Amino acid sequence: MSHESNLEQARAIAAKVECFVRQEIIPYERDERWGSHGPSGDMVQEMRDRARSAGVLTPHILGDGRHLTHRATALVLQAAGLSPLGPVAVNVSAPDEGNMFLLGRIATPGQKDRFLQPLVEGRARSAFFMTEPAADDGAGSDPSMLKTLARQDGEDWIINGRKAFITGADGARVGIVMAMSDQGATMFLVDLPNPAIRIERVLDTIDGSMPGGHAIVAIDDLRVPPGQILGTPGEGFKYAQVRLAPARLTHCMRWLGACRRAQEIAIAYAVRREAFGKLLIDHEGVGFMLADNKIELQQAQLMIDWCAGVLDSGAPGTLESSMTKVSVSEALFRIADRCIQVMGGTGVTRDTVVELIFRELRAFRIYDGPSEVHRWSLAKSIKRDALNRTQS
Ligand SMILES: Cc1cc2nc3c(=O)[nH]c(=O)nc-3n(C[C@H](O)[C@H](O)[C@H](O)COP(=O)(O)OP(=O)(O)OC[C@H]3O[C@@H](n4cnc5c(N)ncnc54)[C@H](O)[C@@H]3O)c2cc1C
Repeated sequence: MSHESNLEQARAIAAKVECFVRQEIIPYERDERWGSHGPSGDMVQEMRDRARSAGVLTPHILGDGRHLTHRATALVLQAAGLSPLGPVAVNVSAPDEGNMFLLGRIATPGQKDRFLQPLVEGRARSAFFMTEPAADDGAGSDPSMLKTLARQDGEDWIINGRKAFITGADGARVGIVMAMSDQGATMFLVDLPNPAIRIERVLDTIDGSMPGGHAIVAIDDLRVPPGQILGTPGEGFKYAQVRLAPARLTHCMRWLGACRRAQEIAIAYAVRREAFGKLLIDHEGVGFMLADNKIELQQAQLMIDWCAGVLDSGAPGTLESSMTKVSVSEALFRIADRCIQVMGGTGVTRDTVVELIFRELRAFRIYDGPSEVHRWSLAKSIKRDALNRTQS
């Protein structure tokens, strides 16, 4: 399929998703089953049943199993992101979307049938087990600090360790566990729940849209047969990169959609509410905040499209996705912050979804690589290039 017809198809899908999210999912933002650890399992299934009926479930993976290009995916995920519940409802949310992408790339046909298909069908959720508790000096910003160990016992593998911030572990049916083996970092596919994988507690965090929240998990003598290794032992960090560059970008896409919605809500407030004898938007301070938002929304869009184009070219896009993640996550945080300011006291209440979007964006500056780690990687590459230039 040509690039243009892929985009054209995506525009039609995005329009359908937007209509669905606005009409059927935004009302769920008032649902009492949406708690501080995300929407409940039955609420997720109910929203997904509606998405299935509307023909918008897992909309970025086409009926024949093909994945939309990254450029085309950007259109669809932005539309889904118009509500923080939209991505979960249409099955393009983190971590499932990134996990589906990884399994699509690396898993064997048998592994795809068993672990990927239920995810694509929206009948199961998944979790990605990489980060470890800071208290254990485990892997965080620096994945090479990985402490979870996998040792061979005959044909099988036995895994022991602790993990932290595992989004959606509570309620997930598919797990991808990263552990260190003699061959190096290795990914294992596991069925969940599993008696050897115990949720110690679900953390109370600033954000609140991801089902299951973010858990601390103990892994005790988890036995995994060889057929459940994802790819090749020792290639885990390489596969993490395969997952991470596009996953960072899809976060940018979804949260861009959310910020467009926050801007709509702030504009609606500013063109209705008056102070000192005129509409808020006619006060330069307010108008300029909304104008700055418009500028930064457009910049974020351009960064996303640029990085998506790089990934579509087949390049790994490591530096490009770092630049985009830093730029977009920080711009969107400023945008959500200005939306709150424009709305005065109402902005910090839960009467609108703007307050949640702001909190979600605070967390986004940390997961999938804190801004500083991306800047540090970029600085290293700048130094490398400079030294190469002086040597040649
Ligand atoms: C909401 C949320 C969901 C998450 N979901 C998952 C998940 O599903 N699965 C999973 O495996 N992990 C998940 N994580 C974990 C996330 O990937 C880590 O929080 C992140 O990698 C940072 O690790 P850390 O928290 O241990 O911070 P640390 O490694 O302790 O770093 C703390 C701070 O140090 C600074 N820093 C670190 N290195 C550098 C450097 N080189 N240069 C400059 N400054 C530096 C940064 O400011 C950083 O924020 C999630 C996190 C959050 C907040």
